[in-house]
Amino acid sequence: MKQRTFFMLKPDGVKLEEEILARIKSVAEIVAIKKYARLPLEKIAQLYEEHKDKPFYPWLVDYLKDNPATLMILEKKDGLNEDLFSLIDKLVGSTDPKKALPGTIRSLSPDSLEVAYSQNRAVQNLVHRSENETTAQREAALFFDVF
Ligand code: GDP
Ligand code: MG
Repeated sequence: MKQRTFFMLKPDGVKLEEEILARIKSVAEIVAIKKYARLPLEKIAQLYEEHKDKPFYPWLVDYLKDNPATLMILEKKDGLNEDLFSLIDKLVGSTDPKKALPGTIRSLSPDSLEVAYSQNRAVQNLVHRSENETTAQREAALFFDVF
């Protein structure tokens, strides 16, 4: 069975869909896709359950709520030996776009943690990716019937 994961274009990522998907397709195929014109609060709360007590949580909700988002199930391409989560991690880059290495998806964002923090908002870093098999299963189930 080929490795699968869950992936999301955040509202700023939706605007760069073509560029981001071109990078993703170097390691994975999109096997399912769902586009929301407005991401419901309930889905955000479920997706980011682990962060609900963090100080940045309300900012995260503001960033995502009632904005477009694209959800995907990705499957590792044939012929790649590396673990899918490690491949996607490298492709996505650091949470802080300012620290994201050139060539990574998050390096495409002009934002930084520092600026976001000074403006009391979540950092706009284009995408969400599941960290491992267990989270991928949980997160995919929030949006898709079959994983
Ligand atoms: P990720 O796995 O790299 O997406 O990062 P986390 O799971 O730790 O955080 C979820 C999302 O919350 C991040 O992608 C950011 O959009 C936002 N975020 C996380 N930490 C901070 C922070 O310290 N400050 C701000 N402003 N936003 C944050
Ligand atoms: Mg995370």
